[in-house]
Amino acid sequence: MTSQLEEFEKSCDRDRAKLTTVVVVSLRHEAVHHWPECPIEDVKFLRDKHRHEFHIVASKAVTHTDRDVEIIMLKRRIRAYIDDSFGKDFGRMSCEDIATDLLMHFDLVSCSVLEDGENGANVWRNLKP
Ligand SMILES: [Zn+2]
Repeated sequence: MTSQLEEFEKSCDRDRAKLTTVVVVSLRHEAVHHWPECPIEDVKFLRDKHRHEFHIVASKAVTHTDRDVEIIMLKRRIRAYIDDSFGKDFGRMSCEDIATDLLMHFDLVSCSVLEDGENGANVWRNLKP
């Protein structure tokens, strides 16, 4: 015979099984990029290299809640990757390109990249089929 407490704990375990937990890191990276093929006259300045402070937020799934992924180390790895791979010039990469690249490289759940914290992209993967 199971006690009420055991029943309660089982229901909590079932609820916990439905949860998806991610850790989140955010960082900013100053760099230039450009869109040489921009066909829109109103924003033709995008054809030239221009500077942004890219605001990046990365979410990574964890399998338990006790530092499965150490957030400070994840942030350092992302920062080092960006520095080593792109430096201060993303070339013709869009926010969507940058977010996708980071998502794929770090096996993230989602990644957002906003130009100056204003406009940009959010890319995410579906965790369940
Ligand atoms: Zn831009």
